Amino acid sequence: MVMQRGRLFAGAAALVLVSAVGVAVATRSDNSATAGGTAAAATAGAKAGSPQSRKAALDVILAQRATAVLKGDVKAFIASVDPQQPKLVAKQRVLFANLRQFQFSTLRYFVADERLAPNLVEKYGNTAFSTRVMMRYQLAGLDPGPVQTDLGYTFVVRAGRWILVADDAIDQTLSDDGHRQPWDFQPITVIRRGKIVVVVDKSEAALGKKIAGVSKTAISAVHRHWPRPWNGAVMVVAMPEPRVMSLLWTTGTGTGWTIAAKAVTLYDGEPLSVKAAAPVGSRIVINPAVRKSLDEDLLVHEMTHVATVPIGVHAPVWLVEGIAEYVRCRSIEDDPHWTVDPYRKTVRTKYLPSMKVLPGETQFDASGDRSYGQAWWVTEYLVSTKGEKGMAALYTDLALHGTSPAAIASIIKKQTGKTPPELVTAVKKFRG
Ligand SMILES: [Zn+2]
Repeated sequence: MVMQRGRLFAGAAALVLVSAVGVAVATRSDNSATAGGTAAAATAGAKAGSPQSRKAALDVILAQRATAVLKGDVKAFIASVDPQQPKLVAKQRVLFANLRQFQFSTLRYFVADERLAPNLVEKYGNTAFSTRVMMRYQLAGLDPGPVQTDLGYTFVVRAGRWILVADDAIDQTLSDDGHRQPWDFQPITVIRRGKIVVVVDKSEAALGKKIAGVSKTAISAVHRHWPRPWNGAVMVVAMPEPRVMSLLWTTGTGTGWTIAAKAVTLYDGEPLSVKAAAPVGSRIVINPAVRKSLDEDLLVHEMTHVATVPIGVHAPVWLVEGIAEYVRCRSIEDDPHWTVDPYRKTVRTKYLPSMKVLPGETQFDASGDRSYGQAWWVTEYLVSTKGEKGMAALYTDLALHGTSPAAIASIIKKQTGKTPPELVTAVKKFRG
């Protein structure tokens, strides 16, 4: 499910077999904040000064922290942290140790926009300065380009230097997953198996290795049934901490659904802005409650999202979810001992007769199980008439060019020879 979060929150889609994809909303609207600090600015130092000199001085400190992560220099990382706050220092040491495990090929922090935090001024005096900080990074062997997230730091001037005194004063003003990244909580273990990266609690390394193994098999399944190129690079986050990436694990109207995993989409650009550019990639986040009983087919569904999302953002939800369900079900039946016949029967007898449209956000919100089943069946129909390559061609065309209902209808007509209502009629007759 492509679930738009933040300002474009359109309601989380429910799911029959527990999956949805979250899309963190972002676009690059402000390149101006990327200028790094200079050495001169560092020595210009810490009188409150002009906003420009303050920003320059803080950018130098942030650059030193990024360099410290890249080089493994914990002393340099901690140098700017308030030594009078042992708890904050300890937290920052955990952050450093966590970050060190991710293998950044690039990492930059820079001052973004000021956020007023009067209580911090009251506590630390007039030099207290709270600002959103942008973190722009690329993980080696995983991200095809840089992505961005944000955090919020409070600095004060003490003895002529800027000191970091708080990292959580303006969290409520950040983007949805700002300061809620996998490295922002407890000590973690990061397992790497080639292009697979699994993040677990420090004490759950064995679980991480198991998930890495299952992920490898799941990636093979996606390669078998999704015909377009995909490098299979993926991060799976399976931590006990429910706040990671700020995901809601129940959704839908009525009693709601429990979601077992989501693919969260990443962008390069201001995370608070509405996205326009294509996503850079995704992370799969597992619901903490099911992390120890994770089924492979669930990962297949989510990894199909990871493989398809970078193509473009315009594919309609019925095809996004339909393809993920299609690949999931095929991967189950690749093993002759397994079947999805009960699901097939439910779709034919329960979900198809009431199908009136290709299910959209409204239908997914109202009834997740029905919509996922219908979406799957549409995809099964498309593959039966056009093959997996034809299905992928339709997806690609829609993901790139499906910018309006009219555009979507015309692409469907071009690729299938049918209008959307004709497609619905054909799908309802299709027995599989
Ligand atoms: Zn999904």
